[in-house]
This record gives sequence, C-alpha cells and structure tokens, in this order.
Amino acid sequence: MAELEGLEFGKSDFVLLDEVTMEQFMENLKLRFEKGRIYTYIGEVVVSVNPYRQMEIYGKDAIEAYRGRELYENPPHLYAVSDAAYKAMKRRAKDTCIVISGESGAGKTEASKYIMQYIAAITNPSQRAEVESVKNVLLKSNCVLEAFGNAKTTRNDNSSRFGKYMDINFNFNGDPTGGHINNYLLEKSRVVQQQPGERNFHSFYQLLRGGSDEMLKAFNLHSDPAAYAFTREGAAAATSNNDRTSLKAVMSALEVIGFSVEEIRSVYQILASILHLGNLQFESDNESVQIRGADALAHVAELTATDPDGVSSSLLFRTVATGGGEVIQKGHTQHEACFGRDAFAKALYERLFGWIVGRINCVIEVKDYDPVLHGKNTVIGVLDIYGFEIFDNNSFEQFCINYCNEKLQQLFIELILQQEQSEYQREGIAWQHINYFNNQIIVDLVEQPHKGIISILDEACLTVGNVTDTLCLDSMDTKLAQHPHYTSRKLSPSDKSMDFQKHFRIRHYAGDVTYSVEGLLDKNKDPLFQDFKRLMYNSANPVLKEMWPDGQLSITEVTKRPLTAATLFKNSIVALVDKLACKEPYYVRCIKPNEMKSPVLFEDARCRHQVSYLGLLENVMVRRAGFAYRQHYTRFLQRYKMTCEYTWPNHLMGSDRDAVEVVISQHGFQGDVAYGHTKLFVRTPRTLFTLEQERAALI
Ligand code: ADP
Ligand code: MG
Repeated sequence: MAELEGLEFGKSDFVLLDEVTMEQFMENLKLRFEKGRIYTYIGEVVVSVNPYRQMEIYGKDAIEAYRGRELYENPPHLYAVSDAAYKAMKRRAKDTCIVISGESGAGKTEASKYIMQYIAAITNPSQRAEVESVKNVLLKSNCVLEAFGNAKTTRNDNSSRFGKYMDINFNFNGDPTGGHINNYLLEKSRVVQQQPGERNFHSFYQLLRGGSDEMLKAFNLHSDPAAYAFTREGAAAATSNNDRTSLKAVMSALEVIGFSVEEIRSVYQILASILHLGNLQFESDNESVQIRGADALAHVAELTATDPDGVSSSLLFRTVATGGGEVIQKGHTQHEACFGRDAFAKALYERLFGWIVGRINCVIEVKDYDPVLHGKNTVIGVLDIYGFEIFDNNSFEQFCINYCNEKLQQLFIELILQQEQSEYQREGIAWQHINYFNNQIIVDLVEQPHKGIISILDEACLTVGNVTDTLCLDSMDTKLAQHPHYTSRKLSPSDKSMDFQKHFRIRHYAGDVTYSVEGLLDKNKDPLFQDFKRLMYNSANPVLKEMWPDGQLSITEVTKRPLTAATLFKNSIVALVDKLACKEPYYVRCIKPNEMKSPVLFEDARCRHQVSYLGLLENVMVRRAGFAYRQHYTRFLQRYKMTCEYTWPNHLMGSDRDAVEVVISQHGFQGDVAYGHTKLFVRTPRTLFTLEQERAALI
C-alpha cells in the first residue's frame, strides 16, 4: 500500500476504499485523475490513466526517489513496480515480468518506455562499457520498432500495430547483459490499405519526407506521399510525428544497433520497392492481363535487384505442378494479379519487419554466458501488446487480437488468484475463495482442438474446392450453436444488427464483438504465390535473399501446406503465455479516459467500462478478501515502531514479530490481523489508516 499522499488526492491504493463498489472505485479514479495523480495501486498492480499531457513525474530526480524503495514509501508510480520487479529479480533471483494491458491509446507503449528507462537508469552504476552498449541497443530498438511497426490510427497517432514482448537478461550484479524481442502479428494489411484518416506505417512517410535528395533520386521516389497508392490515404493526415526528423533518428538508431551501411540501404530500398509496387496496375483485354506502369515495374526490379522480366512474370503468372509432375505457367486473372501484388507487398514488409527484429536480437543476444562462472542469468520481461479492439468493422485481425486478450486475462486470473492463494498458504493463513468470471470458456471457444473457431477456420482452409467465407460461417453456426458465448444471425434471427451471411458474434469478457467473415479465409490462408518467394530468393541483394529462404524450393518441392495465420498466431500466443506464467508477474492496467486525447476529460461511462472488463473491482476484492495489506515484520516495525512506547526507538522483545504483536495490541487491533510466518496480515484498510495517521502526527 502506498504512503498516503493526503486525502485530497484520493486513496492511493484502491484496497483502502471504504467499500468496494463501482461508485467508490470510479470516484477515486476520477478524483486522482483530476488532481494529476495518474497512478493508483491495487496492491502491487498499477492502474494508470492516460494523462494526455506531459507530467513532471519522470526523469532523473524521480528515478532517484524510487530507486531501491518499497512500494508504499512513495506515491504510486511505474517506477515503483519496475523497482519491485527488479528487486525480486536481483535479490531473490526470480524471473519477473511486467504485463502492460489496456486498449489502444491507453498508454501501454509509453508505460513500457518509462519502465525501460527506469531499468536502464538504475543499472550499471560502474558504467561498464559492454553493459552500456547493451542498454543503448535495448533503448534504441524502440525507436526502430516504432518507425516500422507503428502507425497513425483514429485512436492513437502513434499506435503500435504489432505486439511486443522484450526479455532483458541480467547477470548476478543485476546489470543487463542482453535481451530478446518477440514480435506478434504485425498488422500487415495496413501496408496496402488504411481506413479513412489513418496512415500506413510511419516508415514510409519518414522515407518520403525525410529522405535526402540523393536517396530519393536513387530510389526514383517523389517526396510527396500522395504520389503513391499505398501512402495516398494518409498523405494529408495531420500527426504529431515529425516524419522528416524521425528518419534521421531511425537511421542513426539502426547504425548504433549495428546495422551495416548496406543493410540500412537495403531496408529503405525495400520500402521504396513496396511503394512502386503499389503503383502497378493491371489491365485486361479478355485474353490476357498486362501490367500498366512500366516505370514502376522497372523501379521494383532495380530496387529488389531482380530481373524485370522475372518481376513481371511473377505478377502475371503462377507456376503450378500438374498431376503428372509437369510444371506449367498459369496466367492470372486481373483480380488474381491485384491480389498477388498486394500479398507480395504485404509479405515484403512483414519479412522486412521480422528481419529487423531478428537482426536486433542477434546483437543483443546473450553470448558466452556461463552460469557457473557468472551466476544465474535472470530475466525481466516487458509485454506491450495490443489491447482489446472493437471497431465498426471487425475482421481477422481483431479476432486474433481479442483472442490474445482473452488469453492474457486468463493468465491474470490464474496468476493473481494463484499468487494470493499461495501466499496465504505459505504464510499459514486461512483464506477464503472469491468467485469471479472465469473466461476460460471463451478461450476454449476460440482455441479448442477440433471444436474451436480456429479449428473450424483451418478446416475450411484445408478443404479442396470452393469453400467460401459464407460456407465457413455455416459450419461455425452448426458446430457452435450451443455455445453460450457464440451467436450469429441465423441462431438469433431477431437480431437485426447482424447479417446472417456475413457475421458472427463472440461475447468476449470485455464485451460483444461482431466479426465479419468477409475475407476471413483468405486472411487465414494468407497465400503468397511461390513465384514471388523464388524471385526474392534469387535477388542479387544478399539482405533481401536472406529474408526469403523458403524461395529455394522449386514448385515440385513445395508439398507441405504452411500453417494458417490463425494457427501460427495461436501457437505464438500459447508460447508467450507459457513464458509469462513461469515468471513473477507485475501488472500495469492502462485506462484511456476519453476519445479526444484530452488531458481534462474523464468520460465516466468509458472508464467504467474499462474498469469493469479489466476486472479491476474483482482484483480489489481478491486483494481485500482476506487481507488488504501484508508486510514483513521487520519492515512493518521500521515504519510504525514510533507509534508505540515499547518499540520506540528500539524494542527489547525476542523477535520483530513479537514486537509487532505489541504494537498491534497497544492500538487494539488484535482482531483485525493475522500473523504469518514472516509477515503481518491486516484485514481492513482502516487499521492501516489509523496507524498512518498516528505516524504522520508524530513526524
Ligand atoms: P497504447 O500503446 O496503449 O496504444 P500509447 O502508449 O501509444 O498507447 O499512448 C498514446 C498517447 O497517449 C501517446 O502518444 C501520448 O501522447 C499519450 N500518453 C500516454 N501515456 C502518457 C504519459 N504517461 N504521459 C503523457 N502522455 C502519455
Ligand atoms: Mg502501443
């Protein structure tokens, strides 16, 4: 529990509420937001409300104030949980993780950056060069990943369009020795299409607006994003990002990380080739399909170091193996050619992004670590992953993202419950179980083998012949009709908000989401003609070639069906959850106060909804169910011994525990506490209040 800041700022820990009701919770949250107190605890969980303005609570002095201190010694802060995670890692050699959740624009990515800065600031006091360089790469990687993985959306000018989990490794001194980044599901559909008012990834605008004349000339680019089909929509969109200055920062970050000049050049050549690719059109004269835009074609070939004829034939034909083992060229229809071009552009970008992450990982990977020599190598993981999304039109991407949030919520439930339960057990304290909604049933609806939505989707994708999105929906309707969290129009005909040919609805823990099945199968299959892969593998640019190892295979060798996008995603999320589950978790729950990015507006209904689906009220209840507060005897004594004549300045009791008993009985709180093996457990917050007040009156 945090030290009281004075009641005018509200309660710094929600467990101190007089009653755990939504009204009291919201009142406290709002009061604190209005008073500029954006962080509030629930025990060790930080609830954060996006302030939408620069707060004077970060930086060197603040870091010093939190360094090495306990949670309750200072006002609630990300720095305090970062320190708690760091201390657990260093003192107890525990792997820890900080899981940051909340919806788009709630402040997750900013929080992850403050956490990283804190960890960087408090480590390596002796300034050892090799540690400094690891820290530098870890910090610089943010700038690069944001350039390539973030975009302006209607919700957030700098929205992360990928999930990120970063492990930071520490040696026995508690100094960073390296790290590893996992990225999840980059929203690659954004490369070829954006919603009105939104932009493509920042990297494209940075190149066009910030590229030197020499660079743009060499890449045959105009500086105006309106000149390219893929950046036209976002060309006029106002953003707070300065594309021009950002390019310099990104290129310098790439250099610091260790990308070679050739590699950096290749990265931007690939971006340029994607822009030119977008300007290629196709026309059809009933007999065959041709490319319109010879210049663009030549630029693509030049920038990808491939042969123009090769580029043109990959765009117009696909190589197929006939039943007899013969290999033939089959011409695309105009529609197929467009689809192929877009799939190619998306794949180029996705592989570029994956390659950049891989390159960073190579640099920061812990090398030559000998646990015998160096002691246990411990880890702090930081997870900043897309929050729950409900759009007007929800598709495959939202389905995956929301499934991921179900999994993380499930983990939150397990870990928070588990943690409480095991603490009470460890300390020998009797504990009463709290019931709240367990979303396992929704997780199962999505991921269960054979029965879940992903299985049904995959089955439809594997079926030879013309399985349409609508047929797939039929199959889901049949198989999931009984499921309490699934409906479609056919199953619920009176519901006019859904089209029975197009929609199904999942009742997620965070709310109902209606998904459109249009394009669902294509997005799940995510097909890319082998011809493109081979073309890229044969590029004279070694960087590009490296990104396309699967282009080696000839058409007759490609036999295995690749895993579908949904299954790949599921596997990556299951692996992520496994990774998190074996670490000691710290949570940051971010709340977005309004849609206007306003620093003064606290929209009650919006916030209430987030509090409710994040399960924060239940979190407070669990935290208070047994005991609102627990503290090691020695620490408790340090803080409150001044409130008791027998313990001030020093006690003569046998043990600190005995001394704590004396403090407690002098105040008459015997009925409100339990004595664990190492900690004192206090049931009601009022007890702590009183102690705090007495203490405050004495100092
Ligand atoms: P998310 O990652 O949850 O989508 P971001 O972290 O990108 O959201 O935050 C969105 C925007 O909100 C930021 O660009 C910034 O303008 C503002 N913001 C978020 N957190 C803070 C903070 N702690 N202080 C000031 N502004 C913030
Ligand atoms: Mg983000």
